[in-house]
Amino acid sequence: MRLTRAFLPTLKETPAEAQIVSHRLMLRAGLIRQTSAGIYAWLPAGLRVLRKVEQIVREEQDRAGAQEVLMPTIQPADLWQKSGRYDDYGKEMLRITDRHERAMLFGPTNEEMITDIFRSYATSYRDLPRNLYHIQWKFRDEVRPRFGVMRGREFLMKDAYSFDLTKEGSEHSYRQMFLAYLRTFQRMGLKAVPMRADTGPIGGKLSHEFIILAETGESTVFYDSKFEGLDWGGTEVGNDDVDGLRGFFEEVTSLYAATEEMHDEAAWAGVDAGSRREGKGIEVGHIFHFGTKYSEPMGLSVAGPDGSPVTPQMGSYGIGVSRLVAALIEANHDENGIRWPDAVAPWKLSILNLKVGDAACDALCEKLHAAMPDDAIYDDRPERAGVKFADADLMGFPWQAIIGPRGAAAGKVELKRRMTGEREELSVEDALGKLLA
Ligand code: ATP
Ligand code: MG
Repeated sequence: MRLTRAFLPTLKETPAEAQIVSHRLMLRAGLIRQTSAGIYAWLPAGLRVLRKVEQIVREEQDRAGAQEVLMPTIQPADLWQKSGRYDDYGKEMLRITDRHERAMLFGPTNEEMITDIFRSYATSYRDLPRNLYHIQWKFRDEVRPRFGVMRGREFLMKDAYSFDLTKEGSEHSYRQMFLAYLRTFQRMGLKAVPMRADTGPIGGKLSHEFIILAETGESTVFYDSKFEGLDWGGTEVGNDDVDGLRGFFEEVTSLYAATEEMHDEAAWAGVDAGSRREGKGIEVGHIFHFGTKYSEPMGLSVAGPDGSPVTPQMGSYGIGVSRLVAALIEANHDENGIRWPDAVAPWKLSILNLKVGDAACDALCEKLHAAMPDDAIYDDRPERAGVKFADADLMGFPWQAIIGPRGAAAGKVELKRRMTGEREELSVEDALGKLLA
């Protein structure tokens, strides 16, 4: 894509309303545009990142055996009256009345709806276990929407729901999601620490929040520094390996990690003094096991192996997909702009033509662009080099190919890695070899 044809609006000035770096950079790099308080339009570069994050989340859900569905954003109020949450949810719920005076709402989460759908089909223990998820916009009328998409009112969430015959079965489903979450965040280059958490209005006893450590986070957290060295990328536990997954779960959760609400001074005192870490974090995921809290009132019941009725055990599992885009920037930036990790970058390469109109420069740039038509942005604007460098650093694609008249005459490209600042001069062929590797 040529920059002269692209819709990639960058801002030089720092927007006054943005208090944290990810919000500032998302506005300056033209990723999002606020349309009303806490509600954002996603512009091309932002949307590409959002889609990549979403795809990683999807692949790890699928790998853990969950199946994707898509439920609507608008829900009927009567489902929530059945579970008893219609009144409890309070002002965060956006309530809507349709032309027939029917009470509707913009879904803040989907426990009721999925339970109702599943209830329509499940009749026997053979229909269990199942795990269904969707990636859909949610609306919560937050009192103080702030920090851009970090705490929006409309936001994209992945939410999964598990149904099991027994409590043991549902704990296994919980652990499958636990591992899937660690893998998901690791693939994005993020270290997310699972912390024992409060369950809030969703209910239940067993719950973990996945928190990325960052100074701008809204949660206060206490954790064992051993988490910093853990790597679960290579964890090869099969989905159906009940003992293996339990072992993995127990090993990870034996290390202390808790949010402020769940902090336990006595247990904390037992952690090696040198390993105690206290800080701020961003909640990017939250998983809950809540037994029959929804299946019971919603009337979900199946025939068990001996024919007697059983109320399935449930859990729900959320990931803040749009919040993750901001969290990724909090974790990956410098004073000049964003430094996208490869896995989620909107485009892989910026091609910087330092002298548009110079035959050798134009030819080299065109060659690179033609080799990576979907993964490069070609800065073909008639702008000064300084403007191009600044915009490329701000937008933060992982690679920059810098092409000036002197190098171009010798068939050379300067390749810069945005994350580290490393540069090297290469022939176009070698540069492409590296980029397409
Ligand atoms: P928070 O404590 O940050 O208000 P929550 O505990 O109410 O979040 P959950 O119900 O656990 O949120 O939702 C699952 C995930 O959705 C959260 O872990 C978070 O990543 C994301 N999320 C929740 N609220 C918002 C919001 N207002 N804007 C963006 N993402 C959100
Ligand atoms: Mg939560």
